[in-house]
Order: sequence, then C-alpha cells, then structure tokens
Amino acid sequence: MNYEILIHSVLSSPFLAVGLSGSALMLGYVATQWWTVAARYRFEAKRSRLELDALHQKIEILNRKAQEAPESAWNGYRKFTVSKKVEECEDTYSFYLTPHNGRPLPPFKPGQYLTFELNPPNADKPLVRCYSLSDGALSDDHYRVTIKRALPPADEPNIPPGIVSSYFSDNVKEGDILNVKAPSGRFFLDVEVERPVVLISGGIGITPMLAIARYLTHIKDNREIYFFFGCRNSVDHMFRDEVIELQKANPNMRLHICYSRPLREDVRGEAYSHEGRVTVNLMKEILPSSNYEYYLCGPGPFMNTLVHGLYEWGVPKKDVKFEAFGPATVKSNPNEPKVKSETGDQAVIPIEFARSGKTVPWDSGMQNLLEFAEKNGITTIEGGCRAGSCGSCLVAIKQGEVEYILEPGSAPEEGTCLSCICRPKGNMVIDA
Ligand SMILES: Cc1cc2nc3c(=O)[nH]c(=O)nc-3n(C[C@H](O)[C@H](O)[C@H](O)COP(=O)(O)OP(=O)(O)OC[C@H]3O[C@@H](n4cnc5c(N)ncnc54)[C@H](O)[C@@H]3O)c2cc1C
Repeated sequence: MNYEILIHSVLSSPFLAVGLSGSALMLGYVATQWWTVAARYRFEAKRSRLELDALHQKIEILNRKAQEAPESAWNGYRKFTVSKKVEECEDTYSFYLTPHNGRPLPPFKPGQYLTFELNPPNADKPLVRCYSLSDGALSDDHYRVTIKRALPPADEPNIPPGIVSSYFSDNVKEGDILNVKAPSGRFFLDVEVERPVVLISGGIGITPMLAIARYLTHIKDNREIYFFFGCRNSVDHMFRDEVIELQKANPNMRLHICYSRPLREDVRGEAYSHEGRVTVNLMKEILPSSNYEYYLCGPGPFMNTLVHGLYEWGVPKKDVKFEAFGPATVKSNPNEPKVKSETGDQAVIPIEFARSGKTVPWDSGMQNLLEFAEKNGITTIEGGCRAGSCGSCLVAIKQGEVEYILEPGSAPEEGTCLSCICRPKGNMVIDA
C-alpha cells in the first residue's frame, strides 16, 4: 500500500476523522487552558511582586520614621480629632483619632497605648487615663483606641461606673478634639525575635493583642500565632468579624474563642470554639509545646491565674509578657524577699505621709505606694494611668528609697517617685 492510498483511506474513515478532530479540539482546549493558567500565574506573580515591593517600601518608610521617632513623636499633649466612633459591642466603642494639625503620625510598637487627659463634667479636675492602640501599627494618618465602660464591681452594683470610660461611651462624639500623649509603654511585640507567639486576652484586654495580630498579618510575617480570647458570650464578643478576617488573611493564625457563659443561640464551632474560660490546661491541649512567647492582657484574676499557670508549666518568666489595665494586676510571688525596716526588722516598716501627718506600717500585700496611700485615706497623691506613664502620681521623697516594679516611662526627677509603680525599700517619709 502506498502512502497516498493510506492517507486517503485514513481520512475517508469516518471514525478516524472524528477521532482526529476530537484530539485536535482536545489539544486546542488543553493549550488554551494552559495559556490561561500561565497568564494568570504571570499576572498573580507580578501582582505579588508589586504588592511585596509596595510593602517593602512601606516598611522601609516606617523603619526610617521609627529611627526618626524622637523627632516625630511629641512631648506633652497633642490635639486629635475624633474622626470616627464605632460601637464594637455592648458598652464598647472604638475611636479613630486623626491629628488636628494633619501632620503624619509616628509609628507605634504594637501593644503600646495612648495617654489621654479629659475633663468630664462630673470630675472636679482633669483626669488622665491610658488606652491601648487597637489598630495595626502601619497607619500614619490615624490611631484607634477601643474603650469599654468600666462597670461597678459585681458585689457593689450601686457604685457608679468608671468616670472616663463612661464619658467616652456617652459623651465623646465624632468631631470632638482630645488631648493625647504620644504612644508609649513597654508591653509590645518584640519584632526582632522571630519566635511564634501566643496572644491571650480576656474582655477588653483584646486591644493590644489585636494590634499585634494586625501588625504581624500586615507585614506578612511567617511566625505562628495562637490567638486565645475569652469573654462571656456573643453579647460582649468584640471584634468578632475583624478577627475572623485577620485569620482568613493570615494562614499562620489559629483562633480559639472561649465563652464562659454562652447564650442558647451561640453556636459552638461558629460563634466560639470552647465553652469555659481560657486556661493553661486548654493551652496544654492545643499548643504543640510550651515553647512560645506569651502576651497576656485581661482582668486581674484572669491574668493572675494564667501568668502563674504558665510559670508552673515551666514557661520561663522572660517569655511571659503581660499588661494590666489598671491596679488589678498580677500579684508578685509571696516568696519574694520583703522590704526591710531600717532596724532590719521585716515585720514593721513605717511610712510617714508628712503633709497628712500620718504614719502607717507598710502592708506587704500592697502592689505599690499609691495603692497603699489610697487605702490609708491619703488624698494628696493623684492616680492617673497607674502604669508609670502619665506622671500624675509623682510625689517627693523626703527620706528613704523606692524600688520600681515597672520601669518608669521617663525617669522621674531625683528625690521624687512615680508612686503607682514603686514600693518602699525600707522606712520612708513622703511629701503627701
Ligand atoms: C496601659 C493601660 C492600657 C489600657 N487600655 C485600655 C483599653 O484599651 N481599653 C479600655 O477600655 N481600658 C483600658 N485601660 C483602662 C483605662 O485606662 C481605665 O482604667 C478604665 O477605662 C477605667 O477608667 P474610668 O475613669 O472609667 O474608671 P474609674 O472612675 O477610675 O473607676 C474604676 C472602677 O472603679 C469603680 N468605682 C468607682 N467608684 C468606686 C468606689 N467608691 N469604690 C469601689 N469602686 C469604685 C468603677 O465602677 C470602675 O469599675 C488601660 C489601662 C492601662 C494602664
């Protein structure tokens, strides 16, 4: 058979002709698909490259700004306009703050806070309070804080709620101008150390954790993040959608929401992941090991239990970082050495409040001198941020020395102390 006859008989066979044209169509289809996929891949690769370049540029600008921070941060109070007020959940609002002079803002370290001075109508003097920055740290045109009304203690419901937090909830509105100090605080993510982190928060303690999680997501950091958040139920589950969006954007983030008192309509697996409180036992079940950096913020008892639980689990103290929103804080180890009186006697350490004409023995159960003064009816020391930042509690020392439980935001003048973050080293005479 010669080739002509062969080709002719092949082409004239209907089955073969259909088969060949089918194969040709299939090949064409595969080629088109391949081309589309390749084009999409090229497009995505280009887009990622562009996004990455933009991100690198942004990080570079921010790094440069961070180096310039002493110039771009400000001393004292700066005016900010409330550009947006958003209800996050019952009794909790976010306030977006833009600088009144329109100049760019310095970056902050995720976890830090702002200090506010306010004049609520029911207060006889300006009041100073700190609020953690709850947004990512990469915006240079606004800051965000989120404030929950401080309710009276459960066993004393007739006491009025917190003055400043209520003022923010009820009175502060968009367009208002507020006095704000530059971001500060020593509780922040250590960006240099690329260790996986566990973020643990209860209630409004979520604010610094959100800033940390947002920051790590924005810079596309690869470290593992375990995000534990505890609240009562869906009524006070703040930032639910925002955290879910973050988790979608960050494949390294694992979210564990604990409801201590879920409502009938709260569906486990949807609204929350675990029934009960955030506990170290839960972490032992979930975390592959204890070898993480832990960041904690929440109510006093929550922090006290968790911080000591982590130590007992064998987590080194240096890996456990926590922020207390006010005086309710982690109680120090009762076995730590007690302060000594001048006579070496550990039992009685007299503290004299000279202006008030009162001498009282130091109570080792007290967290700091301010708390001790308040407990003893001394009204001449102001309580502000209670974190060593605002300087309201500064008091002159006439005799004696103090030790700091926290490092002061800026070193107090010689012969004075920030009474909210220090304890006496021995006998003292204080100008209060
Ligand atoms: C570093 C830091 C960051 C913070 N970040 C945040 C944050 O992001 N969001 C947030 O919401 N808060 C935050 N706080 C807490 C915040 O600074 C305030 O402490 C909080 O808003 C309460 O202030 P207030 O003026 O509303 O309450 P205050 O008027 O100081 O009252 C505090 C509490 O005492 C109760 N009280 C009032 N009178 C009495 C009385 N006679 N006896 C007993 N109890 C009484 C009140 O009901 C209230 O519960 C932070 C604190 C610090 C130190």
